Amino acid sequence: MSAPKVPAPKIIVVGSLNMDLIVRTPRRPETGETVMGEDLQVLPGGKGLNQAVAAARLGVSTQMVGRVGEDDFGRRFLAFLAAEGIGSDGVRATADAPTGAAVVTLAGGDNAIIVAPGANMRLTPAEAADLPVAPGDICIGQLEVPTAATEAAFRRARDAGAVTILNAAPAQALPPSLLAVTDILVVNETELAAISGAAVGAASIADDIAAAARLLARDGRAVIATLGARGALAVDRDGVHVVAGHAVAVVDTTGAGDCFVGALAASLAAGSGLRPALARACAAAALSVQRLGAAPSMPTTAELHESGL
Ligand code: ATP
Repeated sequence: MSAPKVPAPKIIVVGSLNMDLIVRTPRRPETGETVMGEDLQVLPGGKGLNQAVAAARLGVSTQMVGRVGEDDFGRRFLAFLAAEGIGSDGVRATADAPTGAAVVTLAGGDNAIIVAPGANMRLTPAEAADLPVAPGDICIGQLEVPTAATEAAFRRARDAGAVTILNAAPAQALPPSLLAVTDILVVNETELAAISGAAVGAASIADDIAAAARLLARDGRAVIATLGARGALAVDRDGVHVVAGHAVAVVDTTGAGDCFVGALAASLAAGSGLRPALARACAAAALSVQRLGAAPSMPTTAELHESGL
């Protein structure tokens, strides 16, 4: 008699869905001024959605848990998730708030963003904890939905034998109770400084960044710091792992961090150790910065393979 088939680990992303309303302009208006920009681009985004797309395009079964409004943007998100092959049973439409949106102005290579969180902030702990989670699955969260909801999801995930990854972005105070149920913490340099209290920044050497990461790498938790073009560094029980960045022609770095997190989770779900998963996440993110946009720039397994990175 053959052994019962164990389903492959899947990824569950508990997080935000924000429609990105992007306009390019030669320069931003002063207060009270109006300037003419280029045509509006409307693209699905939000850290949660971007990370789900990054994971799914690398071939891992992925589910999204979050909230949208009962509106046109909400319906567009559900259609987009279906087109990307991402499970949306956990994405509920709420009548009391509009779908989240981000107003993005691009001027001379820099972006300025205002997020209107809307339905994302209506995600309740009970809803977030209602996860179809199994042992070996990976549950990813960020800080664009209520932290109480992310924490409830992580508790449920851990109880079921899943691994939790917290991307503590955007930078803000982190409740210790959420950190306590986090297996892998992923932060950029700004977020690392905010959470650890250490004075690390873009000019810091790897030793200083590793020291700051070590402050948070307690109770078996691994801490990963993404370092932009310089790559990434991880601290876990085995010590410090450094992966150098890839020198590439950058078009748009929006969503690089989200690509990194989704690709990291995809590798771990496929059975990789932390170091090879780190290397693959850096390669995927280096590919994503060569393309415009966040979710649209996430690479597929075939593209990653062909890139040779
Ligand atoms: P963002 O807010 O733009 O999404 P982030 O601040 O969260 O990004 P970064 O540390 O800037 O995160 O980038 C995440 C990863 O993306 C890096 O660890 C690296 O692997 C890759 N990356 C970012 N910028 C570059 C670059 N200019 N060249 C090559 N790889 C890059």
